[in-house]
Amino acid sequence: MPDATQLTCGICGESVDDRRLLAECFSCDRIFHLNPYSTRPGKDCGDSILGPTLGIETYCIECVEAERNAMLPVEAPVEGRRRFQRVDD
Ligand SMILES: [Zn+2]
Ligand SMILES: [Zn+2]
Repeated sequence: MPDATQLTCGICGESVDDRRLLAECFSCDRIFHLNPYSTRPGKDCGDSILGPTLGIETYCIECVEAERNAMLPVEAPVEGRRRFQRVDD
């Protein structure tokens, strides 16, 4: 009998018996649901991104969101705009 190693998604905590339904996060090394079939419904607890060097990179939803938040424009305190004044003699 094959070893029934249960794989558990690090995001939602559900266990899966098919390793192909899981991917490993490039950032935090957790395994998570990533539906490999575009034509079949499946669970996604992360996303795959085409990386610059390694081809497809997979990230869990937490790292995707962290990345997304990091890219949000930070609300910079708006100081009174100083006008650049040139003094011409
Ligand atoms: Zn999951
Ligand atoms: Zn992650």
